[in-house]
Amino acid sequence: MSDQNNEIVVRIEGLRKSFDDNEVLRGIDLEVRRGEVVVILGPSGSGKSTMLRCVNLLEKPTGGRIFFEDTEITAKKTDINAVRAKVGMVFQSFNLFPHLTAKKNVMLAQQKVLKRNKEEAERIAIEQLTKVGLGDRVDYKPAELSGGQQQRVAIARALAMDPHVMLFDEATSALDPELVRDVLGVMKELARGGMTMMVVTHEMGFARDVADRVIFMDGGVIVEQGTPEEVFDNPQSERTQDFLGHIS
Ligand code: ADP
Ligand code: MG
Repeated sequence: MSDQNNEIVVRIEGLRKSFDDNEVLRGIDLEVRRGEVVVILGPSGSGKSTMLRCVNLLEKPTGGRIFFEDTEITAKKTDINAVRAKVGMVFQSFNLFPHLTAKKNVMLAQQKVLKRNKEEAERIAIEQLTKVGLGDRVDYKPAELSGGQQQRVAIARALAMDPHVMLFDEATSALDPELVRDVLGVMKELARGGMTMMVVTHEMGFARDVADRVIFMDGGVIVEQGTPEEVFDNPQSERTQDFLGHIS
């Protein structure tokens, strides 16, 4: 939820991305301010994941520019790893190391990327795991945890890097319904705490409760955006109406 600070954290200008002849992003303009929660909706294949992946340079844009704070991350000289360290990402799949405990999973990038010593990394790992409700599971391995717990480990791992923005790409889509709530609860707490967030989700209740702004994408463009009330209760475009009509 946004505070009164108007500083732009992520600025996307005329973003285009093609895979061979398939242009999946066709000119996206979007600014995300400090503390803002932007929820991105849209049908499968509309380019939501590709847009998020461009923001932390997992995909290289074919056109346009992306700024993260003061840095143009699409510039040739940009240190990609420095950007990624500040841009946390949580995917549908948790991508935890199966042979490592929750704590070790959360420690690893802190030590490798941020060069924190073991003691500090461990302290922060326990702190973050406790925040996501797993203080009593720090020594469990992924296979000993539920999907929802594994996803919360993945969130703790991202948070341990002190990200300035968190990207969530369908973080709850792979989870059994009864496990979704705990993960959404953690995301909601993060939002309340002032984290800047870009969230792709199909959870309309979450979008309504937590989003400062809802973006509707289709065919690689932003078709419509507004407050949750504007987009859900009074969608302007036929495509948005159609999409919302099909899922609710
Ligand atoms: P969404 O997340 O909205 O479902 P995506 O961004 O995943 O959409 O995909 C948009 C389009 O880009 C789809 O047509 C998809 O097949 C294509 N696409 C995504 N990633 C790749 C890739 N690595 N190579 C080729 N095509 C891709
Ligand atoms: Mg996707």
